[in-house]
Amino acid sequence: MAERRAIIAANWKMYKVHTEAIQFAQKLHYLLDEDELKRVEVPICAPFTDLRTLQTLFDADRLPFKLGAQDVYWEEEGAFTGEISPRMLEALDVDYVICGHSERRELFGETDEMVARKVEAVFAHGMTPVLCVGETLEEREAGSATEKVVRQVTAATSDLSSTQVEGLVLAYEPIWAIGTGKTATPDDAQEMCATVRAQLEEMHGAGPAEKARVQYGGSVKPGNIEMIMRGEDVDGALVGGASLDPEDFARIVTAW
Ligand code: PEP
Repeated sequence: MAERRAIIAANWKMYKVHTEAIQFAQKLHYLLDEDELKRVEVPICAPFTDLRTLQTLFDADRLPFKLGAQDVYWEEEGAFTGEISPRMLEALDVDYVICGHSERRELFGETDEMVARKVEAVFAHGMTPVLCVGETLEEREAGSATEKVVRQVTAATSDLSSTQVEGLVLAYEPIWAIGTGKTATPDDAQEMCATVRAQLEEMHGAGPAEKARVQYGGSVKPGNIEMIMRGEDVDGALVGGASLDPEDFARIVTAW
């Protein structure tokens, strides 16, 4: 079985101005030791307005965190008022870009096709997508969670090369668990992360599927991370609310 390095990413959503971002990163660094950060990769997916500040801080103080963005547009440049291009993120040394977060899909109308274009654009600029997939409560209750997730994985990865799939990070995030305090059971998290990997295997072969990393996301907290991480197909977590507090987030990273 492939050795997959755990990846625990903070998704700050629309929180923290750039000065708060500095305070957070310095405190988190103080709370984690170097060995933990060798074992677990820790991207901080911050609002666009914080990225330059964090890049400068990570470089100057040699902070071993990865820099992440929460979204991107797929065009290189042009008359797209309000959008941020992959070229702009690459120029800031961004490592990871969240693509297709359920808040973008549900609140801003992102389609599977748009998400696929974003994933490709991120790879084309040497960064790594964190591709989010997951079902609503209605879909889960109707028994169509697997179908939905398989459809999302298929749409976003069908044009990727094997090498790209190997490097991909996916986040299985049941929408009903995001920001609600409800968490999937450890068995459900494992089962759905395994479903994501099985779909990658069917489309791209066992080698790339074994190397791709699959996170669980949805109300991950210091108190439930140990249960979630037991699943053999769960390679880390995408953490929203609990990533806003450096102490909570450090406890999640340390638990892994
Ligand atoms: C998220 O933002 O991707 C997320 C999982 O949020 P929360 O941890 O707050 O549920």
